[in-house]
Amino acid sequence: TPHLAADPKAGAAVKAADRAHVFHSWSAQELIDPLAVAGAEGSYFWDYEGNRYLDFTSGLVFTNIGYQHPAVVAAIQEQAGRLSTFAPAFAVDVRSEAARLIAERTPGDLDKIFFTNGGAEAVENAVRMARLHTGRPKVLSAYRSYHGSTSTAINLTGDPRRWASDSGNAGVVRFWAPFLYRSPFYATTEAEECARALEHLEATIAFEGPATIAAIVLETIPGTAGIMTPPPGYLAGVRELCDRHGILLVLDEVMAGFGRTGAWFAADHFDVVPDLLTFAKGVNSGYVPLGGVAISAAVADTFATRPYPGGLTYSGHPLACAAAVATLRVMAEEKIVEHAAYIGETVLGPGLRELADRHPSVGEVRGTGVFWALDLVRDRETREPLVPYNATGEANAPMAAFAAACKKGGLWPFVNMNRTHVVPPCNVTEAEAKEGLTILDAALSVADEHVV
Ligand code: PLP
Repeated sequence: TPHLAADPKAGAAVKAADRAHVFHSWSAQELIDPLAVAGAEGSYFWDYEGNRYLDFTSGLVFTNIGYQHPAVVAAIQEQAGRLSTFAPAFAVDVRSEAARLIAERTPGDLDKIFFTNGGAEAVENAVRMARLHTGRPKVLSAYRSYHGSTSTAINLTGDPRRWASDSGNAGVVRFWAPFLYRSPFYATTEAEECARALEHLEATIAFEGPATIAAIVLETIPGTAGIMTPPPGYLAGVRELCDRHGILLVLDEVMAGFGRTGAWFAADHFDVVPDLLTFAKGVNSGYVPLGGVAISAAVADTFATRPYPGGLTYSGHPLACAAAVATLRVMAEEKIVEHAAYIGETVLGPGLRELADRHPSVGEVRGTGVFWALDLVRDRETREPLVPYNATGEANAPMAAFAAACKKGGLWPFVNMNRTHVVPPCNVTEAEAKEGLTILDAALSVADEHVV
Protein backbone atom coordinates (compact mmCIF):
# COMPACT_ATOMS: atom_id res chain seq x y z
CA THR A 1 0.00 0.00 0.00
CA PRO A 2 1.34 3.43 -0.86
CA HIS A 3 2.96 5.52 1.78
CA LEU A 4 0.54 8.17 2.98
CA ALA A 5 2.33 10.04 5.76
CA ALA A 6 1.29 13.66 5.34
CA ASP A 7 3.95 16.35 5.28
CA PRO A 8 2.26 19.63 4.29
CA LYS A 9 5.39 21.66 4.97
CA ALA A 10 7.41 19.65 2.47
CA GLY A 11 4.52 19.95 0.02
CA ALA A 12 4.47 23.73 0.36
CA ALA A 13 8.21 23.86 -0.34
CA VAL A 14 7.82 21.72 -3.47
CA LYS A 15 5.04 24.02 -4.67
CA ALA A 16 7.02 27.17 -3.98
CA ALA A 17 10.03 25.83 -5.86
CA ASP A 18 7.79 24.91 -8.79
CA ARG A 19 6.21 28.35 -8.82
CA ALA A 20 9.64 29.99 -8.74
CA HIS A 21 11.19 28.48 -11.85
CA VAL A 22 9.04 25.94 -13.69
CA PHE A 23 7.25 27.27 -16.74
CA HIS A 24 4.36 24.87 -17.38
CA SER A 25 3.16 23.62 -20.76
CA TRP A 26 -0.26 24.59 -22.14
CA SER A 27 -0.86 26.97 -19.21
CA ALA A 28 -1.34 30.58 -18.23
CA GLN A 29 1.37 30.56 -15.59
CA GLU A 30 -0.44 32.62 -12.97
CA LEU A 31 -3.78 30.88 -13.36
CA ILE A 32 -2.56 27.41 -12.43
CA ASP A 33 -2.01 25.68 -9.11
CA PRO A 34 -0.21 22.37 -9.79
CA LEU A 35 -0.66 19.68 -7.17
CA ALA A 36 2.58 18.74 -5.43
CA VAL A 37 3.01 15.01 -5.93
CA ALA A 38 4.70 13.02 -3.18
CA GLY A 39 4.69 9.60 -4.82
CA ALA A 40 2.90 7.06 -6.95
CA GLU A 41 2.42 3.32 -7.21
CA GLY A 42 0.25 1.19 -9.46
CA SER A 43 -3.03 3.00 -10.19
CA TYR A 44 -2.58 5.57 -7.40
CA PHE A 45 -0.60 8.70 -6.60
CA TRP A 46 -0.59 10.81 -3.48
CA ASP A 47 0.14 14.34 -2.37
CA TYR A 48 1.82 15.81 0.73
CA GLU A 49 -1.50 16.48 2.45
CA GLY A 50 -2.31 12.83 3.00
CA ASN A 51 -4.64 12.54 0.00
CA ARG A 52 -4.41 9.54 -2.27
CA TYR A 53 -5.92 9.58 -5.75
CA LEU A 54 -7.00 6.78 -8.04
CA ASP A 55 -5.44 7.93 -11.31
CA PHE A 56 -8.16 7.64 -13.96
CA THR A 57 -5.94 9.63 -16.37
CA SER A 58 -2.85 7.36 -16.48
CA GLY A 59 -0.82 10.58 -16.37
CA LEU A 60 -1.47 11.83 -19.88
CA VAL A 61 -2.78 8.40 -20.89
CA PHE A 62 0.64 6.79 -20.77
CA THR A 63 1.12 4.75 -17.57
CA ASN A 64 -0.37 1.67 -19.20
CA ILE A 65 1.16 -0.63 -16.57
CA GLY A 66 0.74 1.85 -13.70
CA TYR A 67 3.37 3.70 -11.71
CA GLN A 68 6.62 2.19 -10.42
CA HIS A 69 6.25 -1.31 -11.80
CA PRO A 70 9.18 -3.04 -10.06
CA ALA A 71 10.34 -4.94 -13.18
CA VAL A 72 10.58 -1.77 -15.25
CA VAL A 73 12.21 0.27 -12.50
CA ALA A 74 14.78 -2.52 -12.05
CA ALA A 75 15.46 -2.69 -15.81
CA ILE A 76 16.11 1.06 -15.97
CA GLN A 77 18.43 0.84 -12.96
CA GLU A 78 20.25 -2.15 -14.44
CA GLN A 79 20.68 -0.40 -17.80
CA ALA A 80 21.91 2.80 -16.10
CA GLY A 81 24.55 0.77 -14.32
CA ARG A 82 25.61 -1.03 -17.49
CA LEU A 83 25.40 1.55 -20.30
CA SER A 84 23.33 4.62 -19.51
CA THR A 85 23.61 6.29 -22.90
CA PHE A 86 24.93 5.80 -26.40
CA ALA A 87 24.62 7.63 -29.71
CA PRO A 88 22.00 6.51 -32.26
CA ALA A 89 24.40 5.43 -35.04
CA PHE A 90 25.58 2.34 -33.16
CA ALA A 91 24.07 -1.11 -32.68
CA VAL A 92 23.06 -1.37 -29.03
CA ASP A 93 21.60 -4.65 -27.68
CA VAL A 94 18.70 -3.15 -25.77
CA ARG A 95 17.69 -0.92 -28.72
CA SER A 96 17.58 -3.88 -31.13
CA GLU A 97 15.61 -5.93 -28.63
CA ALA A 98 13.07 -3.13 -28.14
CA ALA A 99 12.70 -2.81 -31.93
CA ARG A 100 12.28 -6.58 -32.33
CA LEU A 101 9.60 -6.77 -29.63
CA ILE A 102 7.70 -3.80 -31.09
CA ALA A 103 7.92 -5.13 -34.66
CA GLU A 104 6.61 -8.48 -33.42
CA ARG A 105 3.46 -6.75 -32.12
CA THR A 106 2.75 -4.21 -34.86
CA PRO A 107 0.37 -5.34 -37.63
CA GLY A 108 1.34 -6.54 -41.12
CA ASP A 109 4.80 -5.79 -42.45
CA LEU A 110 5.53 -2.85 -40.15
CA ASP A 111 8.81 -4.41 -39.20
CA LYS A 112 11.31 -1.55 -39.10
CA ILE A 113 11.29 0.77 -36.10
CA PHE A 114 12.48 4.38 -36.14
CA PHE A 115 12.84 5.56 -32.55
CA THR A 116 11.95 9.05 -31.33
CA ASN A 117 11.70 10.76 -27.96
CA GLY A 118 7.91 11.02 -28.00
CA GLY A 119 4.69 11.13 -29.98
CA ALA A 120 4.89 14.44 -31.82
CA GLU A 121 8.35 13.66 -33.10
CA ALA A 122 7.04 10.31 -34.35
CA VAL A 123 4.31 12.12 -36.28
CA GLU A 124 6.85 14.60 -37.70
CA ASN A 125 8.96 11.75 -39.01
CA ALA A 126 6.04 9.71 -40.36
CA VAL A 127 5.00 12.73 -42.42
CA ARG A 128 8.56 13.32 -43.60
CA MET A 129 8.89 9.67 -44.63
CA ALA A 130 5.56 9.80 -46.47
CA ARG A 131 6.53 12.96 -48.36
CA LEU A 132 9.91 11.58 -49.36
CA HIS A 133 8.48 8.18 -50.29
CA THR A 134 5.71 9.59 -52.49
CA GLY A 135 7.40 12.80 -53.63
CA ARG A 136 4.10 14.58 -52.89
CA PRO A 137 3.62 17.66 -50.68
CA LYS A 138 0.17 17.56 -49.02
CA VAL A 139 -1.03 15.68 -45.98
CA LEU A 140 -4.67 15.17 -44.98
CA SER A 141 -5.68 15.07 -41.32
CA ALA A 142 -8.96 15.09 -39.42
CA TYR A 143 -10.72 17.76 -37.43
CA ARG A 144 -11.22 16.58 -33.84
CA SER A 145 -7.74 15.08 -33.59
CA TYR A 146 -4.56 15.56 -31.60
CA HIS A 147 -1.15 14.73 -33.04
CA GLY A 148 1.26 16.67 -30.82
CA SER A 149 2.59 20.17 -30.39
CA THR A 150 5.67 20.40 -32.61
CA SER A 151 5.46 22.28 -35.90
CA THR A 152 3.98 19.70 -38.29
CA ALA A 153 2.17 17.77 -35.58
CA ILE A 154 0.31 20.84 -34.33
CA ASN A 155 -0.62 21.65 -37.91
CA LEU A 156 -2.11 18.20 -38.33
CA THR A 157 -3.97 18.52 -35.04
CA GLY A 158 -7.64 19.20 -35.76
CA ASP A 159 -8.39 21.29 -32.67
CA PRO A 160 -8.63 25.06 -33.17
CA ARG A 161 -7.85 25.67 -29.48
CA ARG A 162 -4.32 24.46 -30.21
CA TRP A 163 -3.69 26.52 -33.31
CA ALA A 164 -2.34 29.49 -31.36
CA SER A 165 0.97 27.63 -31.53
CA ASP A 166 0.53 26.88 -35.25
CA SER A 167 3.57 27.86 -37.26
CA GLY A 168 1.56 28.23 -40.46
CA ASN A 169 -0.21 25.62 -42.51
CA ALA A 170 2.51 23.50 -44.09
CA GLY A 171 0.57 21.66 -46.77
CA VAL A 172 -2.01 20.26 -44.37
CA VAL A 173 -5.61 19.80 -45.51
CA ARG A 174 -8.16 18.91 -42.84
CA PHE A 175 -11.27 16.81 -43.33
CA TRP A 176 -14.13 15.51 -41.19
CA ALA A 177 -13.85 11.99 -39.85
CA PRO A 178 -16.96 10.15 -38.65
CA PHE A 179 -18.48 10.86 -35.22
CA LEU A 180 -22.13 9.89 -35.11
CA TYR A 181 -23.08 11.52 -31.76
CA ARG A 182 -22.09 14.95 -33.10
CA SER A 183 -22.26 14.08 -36.77
CA PRO A 184 -20.80 16.62 -39.16
CA PHE A 185 -22.81 14.82 -41.88
CA TYR A 186 -26.28 14.92 -40.25
CA ALA A 187 -26.26 11.13 -40.30
CA THR A 188 -28.51 9.16 -37.97
CA THR A 189 -26.97 5.68 -38.26
CA GLU A 190 -23.42 4.37 -38.11
CA ALA A 191 -23.74 3.03 -41.67
CA GLU A 192 -24.88 6.43 -42.96
CA GLU A 193 -22.12 8.24 -41.04
CA CYS A 194 -19.52 5.86 -42.48
CA ALA A 195 -20.76 6.20 -46.06
CA ARG A 196 -20.97 10.01 -45.91
CA ALA A 197 -17.58 10.37 -44.25
CA LEU A 198 -16.00 8.26 -46.97
CA GLU A 199 -17.78 10.24 -49.72
CA HIS A 200 -16.53 13.46 -48.11
CA LEU A 201 -12.98 12.16 -47.95
CA GLU A 202 -13.12 10.95 -51.54
CA ALA A 203 -14.36 14.38 -52.68
CA THR A 204 -11.63 16.11 -50.65
CA ILE A 205 -8.99 13.95 -52.33
CA ALA A 206 -10.48 14.64 -55.77
CA PHE A 207 -10.54 18.42 -55.27
CA GLU A 208 -7.05 18.58 -53.74
CA GLY A 209 -5.66 16.36 -56.49
CA PRO A 210 -4.68 12.81 -55.54
CA ALA A 211 -1.23 13.22 -57.09
CA THR A 212 -0.46 16.02 -54.59
CA ILE A 213 -1.29 14.00 -51.47
CA ALA A 214 1.46 12.11 -49.64
CA ALA A 215 -0.53 10.75 -46.72
CA ILE A 216 -3.74 10.62 -44.76
CA VAL A 217 -2.98 10.82 -41.05
CA LEU A 218 -5.61 9.53 -38.62
CA GLU A 219 -5.74 8.49 -35.03
CA THR A 220 -7.11 4.94 -35.33
CA ILE A 221 -9.47 5.83 -32.47
CA PRO A 222 -9.20 9.58 -31.81
CA GLY A 223 -8.29 10.01 -28.12
CA THR A 224 -7.86 13.54 -26.80
CA ALA A 225 -10.70 14.78 -29.03
CA GLY A 226 -13.21 12.43 -27.43
CA ILE A 227 -12.51 8.70 -27.90
CA MET A 228 -14.58 8.23 -31.04
CA THR A 229 -14.44 4.66 -32.34
CA PRO A 230 -14.95 4.87 -36.11
CA PRO A 231 -17.93 2.99 -37.55
CA PRO A 232 -17.33 -0.45 -39.05
CA GLY A 233 -15.89 -0.16 -42.53
CA TYR A 234 -14.56 3.39 -42.24
CA LEU A 235 -10.87 2.61 -41.84
CA ALA A 236 -11.06 -0.14 -44.46
CA GLY A 237 -12.64 2.45 -46.75
CA VAL A 238 -9.84 4.94 -46.07
CA ARG A 239 -7.28 2.19 -46.74
CA GLU A 240 -8.98 1.50 -50.08
CA LEU A 241 -8.96 5.20 -51.05
CA CYS A 242 -5.27 5.38 -50.16
CA ASP A 243 -4.45 2.32 -52.23
CA ARG A 244 -6.43 3.61 -55.21
CA HIS A 245 -4.50 6.91 -55.23
CA GLY A 246 -1.03 5.88 -54.08
CA ILE A 247 -1.49 7.78 -50.82
CA LEU A 248 0.13 6.45 -47.65
CA LEU A 249 -2.03 5.70 -44.61
CA VAL A 250 -0.47 6.86 -41.34
CA LEU A 251 -2.26 5.61 -38.24
CA ASP A 252 -1.35 7.54 -35.11
CA GLU A 253 -1.47 5.12 -32.18
CA VAL A 254 0.46 7.27 -29.73
CA MET A 255 -2.49 7.12 -27.34
CA ALA A 256 -4.46 4.09 -28.52
CA GLY A 257 -1.51 1.73 -28.94
CA PHE A 258 0.01 -0.80 -26.55
CA GLY A 259 -3.04 -2.24 -24.88
CA ARG A 260 -5.22 0.80 -24.22
CA THR A 261 -8.12 -0.43 -26.40
CA GLY A 262 -7.88 -4.04 -25.27
CA ALA A 263 -5.71 -4.98 -28.26
CA TRP A 264 -2.02 -4.42 -28.86
CA PHE A 265 -2.97 -1.76 -31.40
CA ALA A 266 -6.35 -0.22 -32.15
CA ALA A 267 -5.79 -1.11 -35.82
CA ASP A 268 -6.06 -4.78 -34.79
CA HIS A 269 -9.79 -4.23 -34.11
CA PHE A 270 -10.37 -3.17 -37.72
CA ASP A 271 -8.01 -5.50 -39.59
CA VAL A 272 -6.41 -2.51 -41.26
CA VAL A 273 -2.66 -2.27 -41.81
CA PRO A 274 -1.26 1.24 -42.26
CA ASP A 275 1.94 2.09 -44.14
CA LEU A 276 3.29 3.90 -41.09
CA LEU A 277 2.21 3.60 -37.47
CA THR A 278 3.25 6.12 -34.84
CA PHE A 279 3.55 5.16 -31.18
CA ALA A 280 4.88 6.52 -27.84
CA LYS A 281 3.34 6.65 -24.34
CA GLY A 282 2.36 3.02 -23.55
CA VAL A 283 5.40 1.55 -25.32
CA ASN A 284 7.25 1.88 -22.02
CA SER A 285 4.48 3.27 -19.84
CA GLY A 286 6.18 6.67 -20.07
CA TYR A 287 8.93 5.79 -17.59
CA VAL A 288 11.60 7.30 -19.92
CA PRO A 289 10.64 9.41 -22.98
CA LEU A 290 10.24 7.17 -26.04
CA GLY A 291 8.21 7.03 -29.22
CA GLY A 292 8.65 5.84 -32.73
CA VAL A 293 7.41 5.01 -36.19
CA ALA A 294 6.79 1.45 -37.32
CA ILE A 295 7.57 1.34 -41.04
CA SER A 296 6.29 -0.92 -43.82
CA ALA A 297 8.72 -2.81 -46.04
CA ALA A 298 7.88 -0.60 -49.05
CA VAL A 299 8.57 2.67 -47.22
CA ALA A 300 11.69 1.27 -45.56
CA ASP A 301 12.90 0.26 -49.02
CA THR A 302 12.81 3.91 -50.16
CA PHE A 303 15.63 4.54 -47.73
CA ALA A 304 17.63 1.39 -48.54
CA THR A 305 20.26 3.25 -50.55
CA ARG A 306 19.08 6.82 -50.01
CA PRO A 307 19.80 8.27 -46.57
CA TYR A 308 16.82 9.08 -44.38
CA PRO A 309 17.23 12.72 -43.34
CA GLY A 310 16.06 12.70 -39.73
CA GLY A 311 16.96 11.85 -36.15
CA LEU A 312 17.83 13.48 -32.85
CA THR A 313 20.75 13.16 -30.46
CA TYR A 314 18.81 10.89 -28.11
CA SER A 315 16.91 8.77 -30.67
CA GLY A 316 16.56 5.24 -29.30
CA HIS A 317 18.07 6.14 -25.94
CA PRO A 318 19.23 2.98 -24.10
CA LEU A 319 17.40 3.85 -20.86
CA ALA A 320 14.15 4.38 -22.75
CA CYS A 321 14.65 1.18 -24.75
CA ALA A 322 15.42 -0.81 -21.58
CA ALA A 323 12.15 0.47 -20.14
CA ALA A 324 10.35 -0.60 -23.34
CA VAL A 325 11.82 -4.11 -23.30
CA ALA A 326 10.83 -4.55 -19.65
CA THR A 327 7.35 -3.07 -20.22
CA LEU A 328 6.62 -5.29 -23.22
CA ARG A 329 7.74 -8.37 -21.29
CA VAL A 330 5.56 -7.40 -18.32
CA MET A 331 2.62 -6.86 -20.66
CA ALA A 332 3.02 -10.33 -22.14
CA GLU A 333 3.73 -12.11 -18.83
CA GLU A 334 0.91 -10.41 -16.94
CA LYS A 335 -1.48 -10.65 -19.92
CA ILE A 336 -2.17 -6.93 -19.59
CA VAL A 337 -3.74 -6.47 -23.03
CA GLU A 338 -6.21 -9.28 -22.36
CA HIS A 339 -6.87 -7.75 -18.96
CA ALA A 340 -7.64 -4.33 -20.47
CA ALA A 341 -10.17 -5.97 -22.81
CA TYR A 342 -11.70 -7.89 -19.90
CA ILE A 343 -12.02 -4.78 -17.70
CA GLY A 344 -13.67 -2.92 -20.57
CA GLU A 345 -16.14 -5.68 -21.30
CA THR A 346 -17.03 -6.68 -17.76
CA VAL A 347 -16.53 -3.63 -15.52
CA LEU A 348 -16.04 -0.26 -17.23
CA GLY A 349 -18.36 -0.73 -20.22
CA PRO A 350 -21.36 -2.07 -18.27
CA GLY A 351 -20.60 0.17 -15.27
CA LEU A 352 -20.41 3.38 -17.29
CA ARG A 353 -23.56 2.51 -19.24
CA GLU A 354 -25.34 1.92 -15.97
CA LEU A 355 -24.21 5.38 -14.78
CA ALA A 356 -25.52 6.86 -18.02
CA ASP A 357 -28.91 5.27 -17.36
CA ARG A 358 -29.17 7.01 -14.01
CA HIS A 359 -27.48 10.36 -14.67
CA PRO A 360 -29.18 12.77 -17.10
CA SER A 361 -25.89 14.66 -17.52
CA VAL A 362 -24.39 11.72 -19.43
CA GLY A 363 -25.20 12.15 -23.10
CA GLU A 364 -23.15 9.30 -24.46
CA VAL A 365 -20.75 6.60 -23.28
CA ARG A 366 -18.09 5.67 -25.84
CA GLY A 367 -15.08 3.41 -25.77
CA THR A 368 -13.43 0.05 -25.46
CA GLY A 369 -10.83 -1.55 -23.19
CA VAL A 370 -9.58 1.11 -20.75
CA PHE A 371 -10.33 3.91 -23.23
CA TRP A 372 -13.71 5.52 -22.46
CA ALA A 373 -15.35 8.92 -22.67
CA LEU A 374 -18.46 10.30 -21.05
CA ASP A 375 -19.91 13.12 -23.17
CA LEU A 376 -21.63 15.32 -20.58
CA VAL A 377 -24.65 17.39 -21.65
CA ARG A 378 -27.05 20.01 -20.35
CA ASP A 379 -29.81 18.47 -22.37
CA ARG A 380 -29.94 14.90 -23.64
CA GLU A 381 -32.46 15.75 -26.36
CA THR A 382 -30.46 18.54 -28.01
CA ARG A 383 -27.08 17.11 -26.93
CA GLU A 384 -26.04 20.61 -25.87
CA PRO A 385 -22.70 20.17 -24.09
CA LEU A 386 -22.67 20.63 -20.30
CA VAL A 387 -20.37 23.64 -20.80
CA PRO A 388 -19.98 25.83 -23.89
CA TYR A 389 -17.09 25.21 -26.29
CA ASN A 390 -13.74 26.14 -24.74
CA ALA A 391 -15.43 27.58 -21.63
CA THR A 392 -13.37 29.15 -18.85
CA GLY A 393 -14.22 30.66 -15.45
CA GLU A 394 -17.90 30.82 -14.50
CA ALA A 395 -18.99 29.30 -17.82
CA ASN A 396 -16.95 26.20 -17.02
CA ALA A 397 -18.30 25.90 -13.46
CA PRO A 398 -20.28 22.67 -14.04
CA MET A 399 -17.21 20.78 -15.27
CA ALA A 400 -15.06 22.33 -12.53
CA ALA A 401 -17.60 21.19 -9.93
CA PHE A 402 -17.63 17.69 -11.42
CA ALA A 403 -13.81 17.52 -11.34
CA ALA A 404 -13.71 18.82 -7.75
CA ALA A 405 -16.23 16.18 -6.67
CA CYS A 406 -14.09 13.44 -8.26
CA LYS A 407 -11.00 14.67 -6.44
CA LYS A 408 -12.87 14.97 -3.16
CA GLY A 409 -13.91 11.34 -3.59
CA GLY A 410 -10.29 10.28 -4.24
CA LEU A 411 -10.28 10.03 -8.04
CA TRP A 412 -8.17 12.14 -10.38
CA PRO A 413 -10.30 12.70 -13.51
CA PHE A 414 -9.30 13.46 -17.08
CA VAL A 415 -11.41 16.45 -18.11
CA ASN A 416 -11.48 18.04 -21.56
CA MET A 417 -14.22 20.59 -22.30
CA ASN A 418 -17.56 18.83 -21.63
CA ARG A 419 -16.08 15.36 -21.42
CA THR A 420 -14.45 13.16 -18.86
CA HIS A 421 -12.28 10.35 -20.16
CA VAL A 422 -12.02 7.15 -18.16
CA VAL A 423 -8.49 6.03 -18.94
CA PRO A 424 -6.96 4.17 -15.99
CA PRO A 425 -3.86 1.99 -16.41
CA CYS A 426 -4.41 -1.16 -18.50
CA ASN A 427 -3.67 -3.24 -15.40
CA VAL A 428 -6.18 -1.44 -13.19
CA THR A 429 -7.71 -4.10 -10.94
CA GLU A 430 -11.38 -4.96 -10.96
CA ALA A 431 -11.72 -3.54 -7.45
CA GLU A 432 -10.01 -0.27 -8.44
CA ALA A 433 -12.18 0.09 -11.54
CA LYS A 434 -15.30 -0.44 -9.40
CA GLU A 435 -14.04 2.04 -6.80
CA GLY A 436 -13.62 4.56 -9.64
CA LEU A 437 -17.17 3.96 -10.86
CA THR A 438 -18.52 4.60 -7.37
CA ILE A 439 -16.68 7.93 -7.15
CA LEU A 440 -17.82 8.91 -10.67
CA ASP A 441 -21.39 8.07 -9.65
CA ALA A 442 -21.28 10.66 -6.85
CA ALA A 443 -19.52 13.26 -9.02
CA LEU A 444 -22.06 12.84 -11.83
CA SER A 445 -24.81 13.77 -9.35
CA VAL A 446 -23.04 17.15 -9.09
CA ALA A 447 -23.02 17.44 -12.91
CA ASP A 448 -26.72 16.49 -12.97
CA GLU A 449 -27.55 19.69 -11.06
CA HIS A 450 -26.67 21.64 -14.21
CA VAL A 451 -28.96 19.72 -16.52
CA VAL A 452 -31.87 21.82 -17.79
N1 PLP B 1 -0.49 11.67 -31.18
C1 PLP B 1 -1.49 11.34 -30.36
C2 PLP B 1 -2.62 10.50 -30.87
C3 PLP B 1 -1.47 11.77 -29.03
O1 PLP B 1 -2.48 11.45 -28.22
C4 PLP B 1 -0.38 12.54 -28.57
C5 PLP B 1 -0.32 13.03 -27.18
O2 PLP B 1 -1.27 13.00 -26.45
C6 PLP B 1 0.64 12.86 -29.48
C7 PLP B 1 0.56 12.40 -30.77
C8 PLP B 1 1.82 13.68 -29.06
O3 PLP B 1 2.64 12.93 -28.25
P1 PLP B 1 3.78 13.66 -27.36
O4 PLP B 1 3.06 14.52 -26.39
O5 PLP B 1 4.50 12.50 -26.74
O6 PLP B 1 4.65 14.42 -28.28
